[in-house]
Amino acid sequence: MTSPTIVRARVADSLRRLYLSALDERLDALLSEAARKEQTFLDFLDTLLTEELSSKQRKRVTMGISIAHFPTVKTLDEFDFKFQPSVDAKLMRELATGRFIANAENVILFGPPGVGKTHLAIGLGRAIVEAGHSVLFESATALLGALARAEAEGKLDEKLRFYAKPKLLIIDELGYLPFEKRSAHLFFQLVARRYEKGSLLITTNQLVTHWGTVFGDEVLAAAILDRLLHHSHTMVIQGESYRLKQKRRAGLVSPSNTKAE
Ligand code: ADP
Ligand code: MG
Repeated sequence: MTSPTIVRARVADSLRRLYLSALDERLDALLSEAARKEQTFLDFLDTLLTEELSSKQRKRVTMGISIAHFPTVKTLDEFDFKFQPSVDAKLMRELATGRFIANAENVILFGPPGVGKTHLAIGLGRAIVEAGHSVLFESATALLGALARAEAEGKLDEKLRFYAKPKLLIIDELGYLPFEKRSAHLFFQLVARRYEKGSLLITTNQLVTHWGTVFGDEVLAAAILDRLLHHSHTMVIQGESYRLKQKRRAGLVSPSNTKAE
């Protein structure tokens, strides 16, 4: 009979060669636990596989979240849906399953400052990473800056390909600054490239009726909106700013000032 030490060393070697790193690290603990609980062979195998799968899932999510470049940590669970009843909680939960990604549908969140658009975009983005898809988060300003720079350097196609890649591209705070004419054209190229291929999640403080002003060109704005809205879920968030509510609670703002932002 082969000695247990030799078998243990061979198992460790096999686990490493099969890239089963969680089992490699936890094997002794799992073996003791199995002995203590007098697990059947089938239950032990089940424990091993579940352990390795959940470790791989955790690593994948951590990696996906770091690639997505979210500006802060926000989750849908932290969002107070009761405070903002104009946010359709049922639709948010449905979107969080990631089914809209498979159909390359878009999500557009409209609303004034402070109502939670960026929070929802990050929370939804995290849920989409957890559902197994690639996500990239960019502010509209950074995105347009990057496209303009790439064009000036003769690398526009490369940059457009980069932004076309993630299954979900989140563009935050569109419309806070009006576009220059050239930027609007670059944005159109991006939207056209992703159309029916990859989902966009856009947050904006401007209703679609104002997009002509945002893009500085009614025809271009209509062409952009046509593609964005074709397969899309839109949500208009109304109500008061969460930030102001907190300030008012602290006595920093009087109730009459709450509509000022
Ligand atoms: P917007 O992007 O619409 O300007 P944010 O998402 O940046 O608003 O929200 C401002 C701040 O208030 C953030 O810290 C966010 O987490 C918080 N917040 C907004 N709405 C809610 C809410 N309903 N529940 C919990 N936190 C919220
Ligand atoms: Mg925001």
